[in-house]
Amino acid sequence: MQAALEKAGFDVTVACDGAEAVRLFEKAPADMVMLDVEMPGMNGYQVFSYLREKIGDELPIMMVTGMDDMQSINHAFEAGATDFIAKPINWNLIAYRILYLRRGYLNMLALKIANARSKAIFSAIPDTMFILSDKGIVIDICSHPDNTPWLITDAENTLSRSLPEEIVNLYQGAADRARNHGTVELFEYPLKLAGEKTRYYENRIVVIDPQETLCLVRDITERKDSESKIFHLAYFDNLTGLPNRQSFMERLEGEIKRARYTGNKLAVLFLDLDGFKSINDTMGHNTGDIVLQWAAERLQSSTRPSDFVSRSNADQSEVKLARLGGDEFTVVIPNLSRAEDALILAHRIRETMRRPFHLESRDVVLTASIGIALYPDDGADAETLLKHADTAMYHAKNEGRDNCQFYNINLTSQAEKRMHLENDLRNALQQNEFYLVYQPQLDVIKESFLSAEALIRWQRPKQGLIAPADFIPLAEENGLIIPIGEWVLRTACTEAARWHQNGQSLQVAVNLSPLQIKNPDFVQNVLGVLSETGFPPDKLVLEITEGALMEHSENTLATLLALREHHIQIALDDFGTGYSSMNYLKRLPINHIKVDQSFVRGLQDNKENLAIVRAIISLAKNLGFSVTAEGIESLHQAQILKYFGCETLQGYYFSEPVTIQEMLALTDKQWSIQALKPPGVNHESS
Ligand SMILES: [Mg+2]
Repeated sequence: MQAALEKAGFDVTVACDGAEAVRLFEKAPADMVMLDVEMPGMNGYQVFSYLREKIGDELPIMMVTGMDDMQSINHAFEAGATDFIAKPINWNLIAYRILYLRRGYLNMLALKIANARSKAIFSAIPDTMFILSDKGIVIDICSHPDNTPWLITDAENTLSRSLPEEIVNLYQGAADRARNHGTVELFEYPLKLAGEKTRYYENRIVVIDPQETLCLVRDITERKDSESKIFHLAYFDNLTGLPNRQSFMERLEGEIKRARYTGNKLAVLFLDLDGFKSINDTMGHNTGDIVLQWAAERLQSSTRPSDFVSRSNADQSEVKLARLGGDEFTVVIPNLSRAEDALILAHRIRETMRRPFHLESRDVVLTASIGIALYPDDGADAETLLKHADTAMYHAKNEGRDNCQFYNINLTSQAEKRMHLENDLRNALQQNEFYLVYQPQLDVIKESFLSAEALIRWQRPKQGLIAPADFIPLAEENGLIIPIGEWVLRTACTEAARWHQNGQSLQVAVNLSPLQIKNPDFVQNVLGVLSETGFPPDKLVLEITEGALMEHSENTLATLLALREHHIQIALDDFGTGYSSMNYLKRLPINHIKVDQSFVRGLQDNKENLAIVRAIISLAKNLGFSVTAEGIESLHQAQILKYFGCETLQGYYFSEPVTIQEMLALTDKQWSIQALKPPGVNHESS
């Protein structure tokens, strides 16, 4: 054996028995030991046990056994022998057996070293490392489990037992990407555990093999906290906690971009406290700082949505405040629909500021001057808007402080006018400032007035009579049209019911706003008014415009059908100015069409109008609607319209709108209109 091994290049030491083997090994340890099971004195197993205990399992030991000695072979395996060789030994192969054994041994050593290195690296990296299977099971935690105390490590530990579903999904998505692209995937997530503050984790995922990925989890809460501290320092004012100039400019730029995209307006309010400098000078900076904090609080309270939305159309949920520095503050109102909404907010702020501050046992009154610039009218970028709002603020100071001005000087008075108009309009119903007039409508066949259109008038205490065109659009904007419309309906039915009691059963027509029809309670309201006033439903005509019909057509249709079911009549007002197709009209449950006065006006000398009116009347009659023409100012127009077959005529030629008493006097009058063929009209086709 010695010769065979030496031939293969090994240095061989031979011992005659177990005791000698131990002695020789202690003198010069070998890289490998072969032990015969049967030896005089210490047998092979005794030497084996001694060497294992002394060197450990890194020493490869081969047991030499008898050929059929199954018990020894088994015993050697159980004791942890590296290999066995059975006698008789094939001397040609023995060297190769040993070479193979040695190679395996060296590989094992290399693996052991590599493992030790990995372990060292793992423990040097502060992350928790664990191996995740493609089934979402945490197979092994390699290092620092303490950093992720939430990670459950007992048997069957799927990741979903440790983390909420949305975070498990993040892991699985990243693992899939890492698997598909061979990349290192990085993601972050916050984790809020019961009773603890939110912590932030950064996670890297690397593929080990198709079934396993390595996850490195790092707690980055401290980094996140300091980032947010830095962000706060950079973007917020220390004294008041409001966003600072930097933050304001960035937000304003963002809002301008959005407004440019949506086509909306926005307002920048520039606010400066009047007389703040003297507080600083006389009471010291500490007191000044306290006043600024109070002012900021008031500014916040006066721009809270609940305080403001009810008073204007602006969506104030996104109003943004900032302190530019010193006693200068700014407010941005995005999605501004009307200039006066900015003015309403400015007045609100001024009112709030005007309340005295209690300082060192005395009251100090501090007012604010406010300048307003509008996008896009006063500037297309943040710098310009701010500059112009600043200019407007100086203008407000010059106007005597505690004042508010637009950058566009004309706008201030316009917006104020509209604001006051709106304020007065809100009170007009309670103050009984509205009244109705009636314009009679002539029945062409019966040759007398059988119906009248109720029209609203507003007697504004100081300004006198206001035309509907000057306040109805405003009422539509701010929703007041709903109570006003209801008032008109109730009043018209009440007054007309009195005619009926006098034996004159006139029809009364009431104009509706699209907003009223959209109101889901509308039909119930109408029926309520009819039963309260005792006015017969079939004598009530509700006039709606084409525009109102086109909007929300399904709901509108349902509303109209419900009204018709109760015998209330429907007229389509201002016909010809909208875009209704006749095809659409024929599906609608309407009774009358009112030809818009713009067509009637030029009837006798405008061929186009003549053709249009004639076509409308002819089509309407074919569809079973009766036709009323509005805006008749001359006998000639009335005669042509009668010739075309128009059933009802309304206009100044017959009567201007009159009071209810005057209306009654007009009903006795008889009219005689002779049909007159206009020149150039072919009789057969009319
Ligand atoms: Mg009308």
